[in-house]
Amino acid sequence: MNSSLQHTIKKNITLVGIGLHSGKEVKLRIKPAPVNSGIRFLRKDVEPQVLIPARIQYVTDVRFATTIGIGNSTVSTIEHLMSAFAGVGIDNAIVELDGPEVPAIDGSAYSFVALLKKAGKKEQAQSRRYLKILKPVAVKNGDSFISAEPCDVMTVTLEIDFDHPMIARQKFSGVINEQVYEDQIARARTFGFLKEVEMMQKNGLALGGSLENAVVLSERSIINEEGLRFPDEFVKHKVLDLIGDLYLIGMPMIAHVQGYKSGHMLHSKLLQAILNDADNYEVVEQDKNVVKRRYWNVSSKQASAAVANI
Ligand SMILES: [Zn+2]
Repeated sequence: MNSSLQHTIKKNITLVGIGLHSGKEVKLRIKPAPVNSGIRFLRKDVEPQVLIPARIQYVTDVRFATTIGIGNSTVSTIEHLMSAFAGVGIDNAIVELDGPEVPAIDGSAYSFVALLKKAGKKEQAQSRRYLKILKPVAVKNGDSFISAEPCDVMTVTLEIDFDHPMIARQKFSGVINEQVYEDQIARARTFGFLKEVEMMQKNGLALGGSLENAVVLSERSIINEEGLRFPDEFVKHKVLDLIGDLYLIGMPMIAHVQGYKSGHMLHSKLLQAILNDADNYEVVEQDKNVVKRRYWNVSSKQASAAVANI
């Protein structure tokens, strides 16, 4: 595999599963797509069908999961599938769905990774482009923060701190590449607290949540009989989420991203802050040639749309 080239998949992938929040069964089909088209989600069940690019400017909700949409048509909980695309190195694909939420499967990205690899990666005749961070950018909310700083290879340092004996403080720090992603990140499951799950379900959320697709914590312990997949599965899942959310910039990023207690909301704010000032980044090919460097004195929406057109 030549990682300096763009990739799609060799053949269609189909899977059926339950949405974590909606509890609804959704059929999903992933199809190959042409160069420079990126990852796009197609709502097949609405008339007319709506094609939503998986880009920061289409993000409509970041409260419990990452949701993208156009008009009234949305696709929620895209982060684990986006993470799999980023982790495996798929640049271009169309994700068709007959419902509003990506299936949770086992609450990690591993099933998506396994299916993408089974379908096979296909090299495409176009260089992959990376968004390389040139200046430190940081956003914060209370004591939580996330930042992106210049670095020669994609690196993530993430720390969480939960007032729960099974989680407490956990930290992940390391270079992110395909091997690291597959071995250490992809299998980490989402997690929730029994108390909060009950509250969320009263509000129509986490309706598809179960011990099959999440690590569930009671007051002092883990309810799942099988226990954890990694001693630090919780922070690794947060890294999985971060990788998925960062991919909404439309191409792999080259930076050292450092976060503390960050979530979907801060991730999307970081991407907006990066795109707000074109001095923050340049778009490069792997041989470090600058493809295009433009100076925009415009809103992040226009700037990210401009990145989309590169
Ligand atoms: Zn997640």
